[in-house]
Amino acid sequence: MYSLAFSILFVSFIILTLLVRFWLAARQLRHVLAHRHAVPAEFAEKIPLAAHQKAADYTVARTKYGLLTLMVNTLVLLGFTLLGGLQWLSLQIFQLTGPGMVYQLALLAAFALISGLIDLPFDYYKQFGLEQRFGFNKMGKGLFFKDMAISTAIGAALGLPLAWVILTLMAQAGDLWWVYAWLVWTGFQLLMMALAPNLILPLFNKFTPLADEALKSRIEALIKRVGFASRGLFVMDGSKRSAHGNAYFSGFGATKRIVFFDTLLARLQPQEIEAVLAHELGHFKLKHIVKRMAMLFVLSLGFMAVLGYLKQQPWFYDGLGVNPLLLPGQANDAMALLLFLLVLPVFTFLFAPLASLGSRKHEFEADAFAARHTDARDLVSALVKMYEDNASTLTPDPLHSAFYDSHPPASVRIRQLKLAAA
Ligand SMILES: [Zn+2]
Repeated sequence: MYSLAFSILFVSFIILTLLVRFWLAARQLRHVLAHRHAVPAEFAEKIPLAAHQKAADYTVARTKYGLLTLMVNTLVLLGFTLLGGLQWLSLQIFQLTGPGMVYQLALLAAFALISGLIDLPFDYYKQFGLEQRFGFNKMGKGLFFKDMAISTAIGAALGLPLAWVILTLMAQAGDLWWVYAWLVWTGFQLLMMALAPNLILPLFNKFTPLADEALKSRIEALIKRVGFASRGLFVMDGSKRSAHGNAYFSGFGATKRIVFFDTLLARLQPQEIEAVLAHELGHFKLKHIVKRMAMLFVLSLGFMAVLGYLKQQPWFYDGLGVNPLLLPGQANDAMALLLFLLVLPVFTFLFAPLASLGSRKHEFEADAFAARHTDARDLVSALVKMYEDNASTLTPDPLHSAFYDSHPPASVRIRQLKLAAA
């Protein structure tokens, strides 16, 4: 009885998510196309009509592609759950391995492999169809497959031991296993943040110390002015994959570093680079990064507690198309984990606007920080260039933007900065 109710709830949330997503996408398409004929007045002097129309077309193409992948992902989700995909997969593996840890790890690995294979043509089309068409793809096919091979190897090398630890805790650590599992998960994430800049990211990109002396001393002066300690300024060869540009921080503590994409450095003036960096430093000095991490850790503790409860409920398996008595006397822990990770996004989707709202608040604060420590006009001109280069639309639908966007719309952001500069 409970399982039927849970199936109905699950399907209702899927339908609700689809309706909201399609409705928002339709609004976005209508809004962007309605403003395609003219550059908004406040950008008219800086952005040519052709660039504005490219941004509109790129936004339309991405939105449509998003709807296609949404449909496919929903079908895959239903295929794994209610249509019996996971149940079938589990039985096949069980016949090969028998019960035990090997069965559980093999189930997780097989699931990851199958999902990866389903995603592959879509990732490929995104890079060599969509991005290529708008001139953003800089990657050859060899690099695409090399990246995939490295990611898969890293995923297996890190994911399997982590899964082994968590599954062992689930089976042997008693009722409060989820607290220990959460500690392991949190520790793992912190460790990755510390190690990734030196151990993992160099497998994908080359990082060279910033060589431009004039720019370097300008940036070092800024870093000193705002009181930030960094282990170096690096340039990353982002141009070998994409024409999109960015700047970011990585690592923390002793591995903290600032990284610029070479594509960004090539395009911005030194004072604009300084302003962009001041914005990023704002995120750091205003503790946005620490707050976001703390929030994620608290949330994941909550999710672990929910999983701790669900794992004991037969209706949770049954309601998602898996027989809870699949392996009599055997733990269904790997299955519980899989089902939970699969269905969690369905139930949390409607909270996305809250996360977007929090993120946009931080963006405004970081902009204000940059305006205090550099010239706000430099950040404005840098933003205009970045919007143009990335073909980001200047005219998003306000509701679509409020729901999804981590950054405020360009016009709102620039209006605030101009106020700060005045
Ligand atoms: Zn930001």
